Amino acid sequence: MKQKFSIALILLFICGLLLGTGTNAAAASQGTPSSQRLIALHDRILPIEDVRVVDGDTKVPLKDLAKYLYLPVEVVEGVTVIQKRGMEFRFDPVTGITTKDGKELSWSPIREIDGTTYMSVKYIAKEIGFELDFFPQEKTIRIFREDYKHSGYDAFQQAIQHYRLEQQEAAKPVPKPTPKPVKPTSPETAKKKPNVYLTFDDGPNQFTTVNLKTLKEQEVQATFFFLGKHMKKNPSIVKAAAKDGHYIGSHSMTHDKELVYKSTDSFMNEMKESTQLIQKITGKSTKLIRVPYGSKPHVTPDMQKQLAAGGYKMWDWDVDSNDWRFTEEETEKIIANVKEGVAKAEKAGDRDIVILMHDRSQTTKALPAIIEWLKEEGYTFKKYENDHHVVKNFLHDKAL
Ligand SMILES: [Zn+2]
Repeated sequence: MKQKFSIALILLFICGLLLGTGTNAAAASQGTPSSQRLIALHDRILPIEDVRVVDGDTKVPLKDLAKYLYLPVEVVEGVTVIQKRGMEFRFDPVTGITTKDGKELSWSPIREIDGTTYMSVKYIAKEIGFELDFFPQEKTIRIFREDYKHSGYDAFQQAIQHYRLEQQEAAKPVPKPTPKPVKPTSPETAKKKPNVYLTFDDGPNQFTTVNLKTLKEQEVQATFFFLGKHMKKNPSIVKAAAKDGHYIGSHSMTHDKELVYKSTDSFMNEMKESTQLIQKITGKSTKLIRVPYGSKPHVTPDMQKQLAAGGYKMWDWDVDSNDWRFTEEETEKIIANVKEGVAKAEKAGDRDIVILMHDRSQTTKALPAIIEWLKEEGYTFKKYENDHHVVKNFLHDKAL
């Protein structure tokens, strides 16, 4: 055990040597900003500018790593706490000590430099199950998951070289600089990707359970619109979804067009009964509904008025995965629909993109790839929250 650890340290040291240059090694303990160093995730060079080499180890601001690797970071009484995959890492800036699951580490993968917390790329990547590629010539570290699609070492090396050339080209002085138009947004806001909400209709059923497992593995939270008739049969699935922290909204009791939209009374009863059922099973109050077949043209002005009076909120969607149209062999089409729809919504300026899916077998097959893609593209996952309502209905009713 001890020997294994020493080997790991030596390896770490060698990697540091390979990646370190003269100046960086000299400025060891504080670390020097090194704009030339690159960090890549799968096939993407991450826009992290502040990459430092500290004692031969590559470190970047923790907030950047947290964003791209989905690390939940909390600061509790000055101590940085990261919980991921059942492990807990703590860093105390006062003592400079990092612990993993309560045990003190013999070196510091996390450090504070000039008031910013930095984390070792190699350390956290290995701890949470990523592989590493080193490109010493290109001063690049790539982290990747073996089971996620990525190009081979040589191909990626070429990609980095290409990227470097493009950067050099872009940096060349232009003889007659054209005046830059003043942009209303700062680069920060311009870069930030919209929020995405994964939503699942028609459960709870056996496929809800599979989707819950995927969401847990991917550490993503979602919004489920359950049917009363199914919740009565599967209360344990409703509880499991609530326990995992997902939001549960109502999709009516019966899903039957004739019954739901027969009258304002029958409509309101469907919503009331199903939301009360959610409250009874989960202990959590819910006011969000997604009406069967979408609000337009089924929901009448009178129904709108009654919903608002009852304090309900109503969500339709922005992106239709059309998952129900495809078989398990056609999951690529579901994935493509989501990609296309999300890109289009973003282009149209949508900052909160709601994606419609269903608890169906074909969707369980497509979901992992959909989540991976959204992560790769840098979208932020959100679930519905009562306190952070976003208007999202086809009727453009701001009260709902
Ligand atoms: Zn439905």
